Amino acid sequence: MLNLKQDLELLYELQNYDLKIDEIKKKISQTPYLIKEKMRALEDKKTEVSVQKQSFIELNCLKKEKEAVLDSKDKAISKRSMELNTVKANDIYKILLLEIERAKADKNAIEDEILDLMDKIDGESIVVKSGDTELKEFEQKIKNEMNDLEEYAKKLKEEIISIVKEREIQKLKINKAVLVNYERLREGRDGREISLIDGTSCEVCGMVLRPQLINMAQKYQELVFCDNCSRILFKK
Ligand SMILES: [Zn+2]
Repeated sequence: MLNLKQDLELLYELQNYDLKIDEIKKKISQTPYLIKEKMRALEDKKTEVSVQKQSFIELNCLKKEKEAVLDSKDKAISKRSMELNTVKANDIYKILLLEIERAKADKNAIEDEILDLMDKIDGESIVVKSGDTELKEFEQKIKNEMNDLEEYAKKLKEEIISIVKEREIQKLKINKAVLVNYERLREGRDGREISLIDGTSCEVCGMVLRPQLINMAQKYQELVFCDNCSRILFKK
């Protein structure tokens, strides 16, 4: 085969385009996962903020319940106090007084609980407000990062288009019989399909080559393949 050395040289350059395309495709294929990760992080943040809000709502509900009980205690105290004015029997008078005392004690305890709840609600309200602000900022950050990733993927796709164009030009320079062998090998797998002879070994798989193979490769009369990895061998 005439000019096989030159064809192999051109093929080796073509492979550089293919390796570059493989590398860019790999980067593009990673971007949806990276975008998904960003979306997941945002969802986690939203859940975190909503849990904080839920706790704030629950504390407020609890405070309302306590206030209702407090109100009922107040009403009971006034009712019993009114009864005190009309009751004549000493025993009942004593019972009413005791009930009023108990209700007042309950009231004090409930008031303390309400004050305690109000402190907690104040604290939670700060957490909820800062959580909302944080979420807004986080949302914007994630949106920007996702836009950047999409922009990055778009640029990579454009890069591939331009490399493919250059590759097509390079392809035309190569003898078809040589090219067909290379393309067929690449169909089955990505990566290098033309391997340099590095001293006495195949550069890609590292196998020490038979002297006869090296000899044949140096004659550039036919394509020579590695016994181990089947790649096209090229002695520069
Ligand atoms: Zn090999």
